[in-house]
Amino acid sequence: MKKILFLWLLSYIYTIADATIFVYHRFGDDRHPTTNTSIEQLRKDFEYIKNNGYKVVPLSKVVELIQNNQEIPDKWVVITIDDNYKSFYTNGLKVFKEYGYPFTLFVYIKATEEKYGDFMTWDMLKEASKYGEIELHSYAHPKLTSLTKEAVLEDTQKAFEIFEKRMGKKPRFYAYPYGSYNKKVQEYLKSFGLEAILNQTAGATSKDSNPHDLFRVPLVGKSNISGGLRYSVLDVEWIEPLEFPKDGVLRRVKAKVDKDIKTIKLFVTDNGWMENVKVNDGIVDVDLNIPLNTTRSRVTLGTTYYKTSSQILIK
Ligand SMILES: [Zn+2]
Repeated sequence: MKKILFLWLLSYIYTIADATIFVYHRFGDDRHPTTNTSIEQLRKDFEYIKNNGYKVVPLSKVVELIQNNQEIPDKWVVITIDDNYKSFYTNGLKVFKEYGYPFTLFVYIKATEEKYGDFMTWDMLKEASKYGEIELHSYAHPKLTSLTKEAVLEDTQKAFEIFEKRMGKKPRFYAYPYGSYNKKVQEYLKSFGLEAILNQTAGATSKDSNPHDLFRVPLVGKSNISGGLRYSVLDVEWIEPLEFPKDGVLRRVKAKVDKDIKTIKLFVTDNGWMENVKVNDGIVDVDLNIPLNTTRSRVTLGTTYYKTSSQILIK
């Protein structure tokens, strides 16, 4: 018993309070197994949330706390849905209503505006807005990183105009189509005054998170919410790297962590995890020589694979 209590306490140290943001796509639509969550699985997820003391809040609550530099209460969960598929309206929404769980739904504007059959109509979106937040997922669902600056601005401008006309308000949040972005894309989108932008990298969210680069844990098929809730934020003060290295080579990782941590794991995109990296008196300081081949690379420090802090370096 003592040992269990000790292990339980251990799992809470070095951690700062955090929320987990999830993303679903389709509900009860087994024609598309790579994006679908069955209603049975959705109910299992919601039962887990209910029975384990988690609280589902709309994204705006978490964003407001980050903006005010206030601690996010532990056990907060945000549920987002990408692509406004009709199956959310016909199958998923009633389960959200039954549990009283809010959601934040990101709309692929062109699909609704041009009445693509598989997507919610504006009337359905207005009805859904009584129970959750409706936000933006681009106009034409492009891969933003392969567009010119003008094309990114044009797509976003069009999305804003139609959204405002149809929903009677400006969008505040944006989810990248395909989770694809780079530094420039992020800057172009920020110029529209968006308060938060969400990616698709798995991780948790704390008051120190960058609101314009929020992590989300995808849920599809049999992947369940209890697995995603294992993610937590390790308290790390990053010294280096803080941005994508000018010559594209990661030469050093330096950070401050809790003095009781003696070794740590280090992850760099395309290089996997380095185990047992020495920590001296709360300082991680590692010389490396790793060329970063992707325009978006992640450097992560963790005491476990789930208790981590990440720097996303974008070119
Ligand atoms: Zn999408």
